[in-house]
Amino acid sequence: MHQSNPFESALIQLEKAIKHLNLTSAQIERLRLAEKIISVNFPVTMDDGTIQLFNGFRVQHNSARGPYKGGIRFHPQVDMDEVKALAFWMTIKCAICDIPMGGGKGGVEVDPKKLSENELERLSRAYVRAIATDIGPDIDVPAPDVNTTPQIMRWMTEEYIKIKSKIQNPKSKITEKEKSRLMVTFTGKPFDFGGSLGRNEATGRGGSYVLLALLAKLNEKFQPKADQPLDEKMKNEKLTVAVQGFGNVGFYIAKFLSDAGLRVVALSDSRGAIVVNNLKQDSLNPNLVLSCKKEKGTMSKCYCIGSVCDIKGGKSISNDELLVLPVDILVPAALENQITGENAGKIKAKVVLEMANGPTTPEADELLHKKGIIVVPDVLANSGGVTVSYFEWMQNLKNEHWSEEKVNSQLKKKMEQAFAAVWKEKENLHSSMRTAAYVVAIKRIVEKM
Ligand code: NAD
Repeated sequence: MHQSNPFESALIQLEKAIKHLNLTSAQIERLRLAEKIISVNFPVTMDDGTIQLFNGFRVQHNSARGPYKGGIRFHPQVDMDEVKALAFWMTIKCAICDIPMGGGKGGVEVDPKKLSENELERLSRAYVRAIATDIGPDIDVPAPDVNTTPQIMRWMTEEYIKIKSKIQNPKSKITEKEKSRLMVTFTGKPFDFGGSLGRNEATGRGGSYVLLALLAKLNEKFQPKADQPLDEKMKNEKLTVAVQGFGNVGFYIAKFLSDAGLRVVALSDSRGAIVVNNLKQDSLNPNLVLSCKKEKGTMSKCYCIGSVCDIKGGKSISNDELLVLPVDILVPAALENQITGENAGKIKAKVVLEMANGPTTPEADELLHKKGIIVVPDVLANSGGVTVSYFEWMQNLKNEHWSEEKVNSQLKKKMEQAFAAVWKEKENLHSSMRTAAYVVAIKRIVEKM
């Protein structure tokens, strides 16, 4: 299969938006190019005493609106172009949800599943030592991404504080005030270590707010055809959902859409997918599927419908088959380049909610647009994560602790505002939601450049 380069895809998306804007060539170049690119090779002692060298990256794309913000990904296929694309998308994302931060992203080329817990800790700490001079509460604020967790953020924060306290105060002990200031360098931390309530669920929750806002808008515009009854609107309980990637984001989006009454009929992870037998009436229970997966170590045969997991309830299919199921809403929540020129023509969903970053190639995007499939772009759909990361950063800076209700209601407000701005621009430009989202974001970025 032809693999799109994510950075080239990002530039094609930018190009489409630029056509609607009156930008100078200097402004365009500043949007295309990262402000700083950091590439590091750092040693880690393995459990058997050998020393292994790892490649890591940090890309700081644009800081016009505030400090760089973006996750750190641990994955064997991470490369510079992927991290450059992800950093660029962070710049766009922060502007769409109107938070005063810029775009950054980090990555380490490693398969964390092959490391012991101790090796993972040493690797996380070593990566931070390698990039420590380039991050900080007002400079660049990393967070979790694929395969990085709140625990990893804790190790990274501890290491960062250790390094900085040695530099700032080599002789005396660091004060609590200085320490709490340095803690602000990372978000997505565990709750008992400066994290925010609601951060773990935020990306999925934010995506569900965006989808529900879209459904409300579609219902508002709904005009029945002559032979169609009035109640043919996109009612939650009638809608079916397939989610690719049952990790942090995939689990929570499945859970929140299920809580909102939609029927989750198929789920997958890197090893394969499951689907209910009867798409017309059954639905998977994401909470039960998760506990079944944890218990068995695999999701295959976790056909958990209602309150039981029954081997007869569904069947295993491939990830490719999941993408082309006849569902209403398809949610790619795994990695880049899943919807391509090869399978886009076969997609039957009416809405694609991009919870992963860059799941649709530009070629596929065109095909989906021509077919009238609404693609809710990643830069809007998954921006709930960075929004609550920003809330965590603010709470830490002001020494506040927000209740979960406050976090969720502020998140809802931000996501609905972002959706409304994008939808308005889309109607104005008669464009895809992605191009409209970029136009909204670029106007806000350029204003501060
Ligand atoms: P994760 O590591 O928790 O989960 C990823 C899941 O995808 C795993 O279940 C894995 O088995 C599955 N997967 C991997 N390859 C697959 C394939 N080919 N087919 C099907 N499933 C596959 O990661 P996550 O944090 O849930 O991130 C998922 C996506 O969401 C990424 O694109 C990430 O950049 C994006 N994202 C995450 C956040 C966040 O807050 N975690 C925020 C914004 C965007």
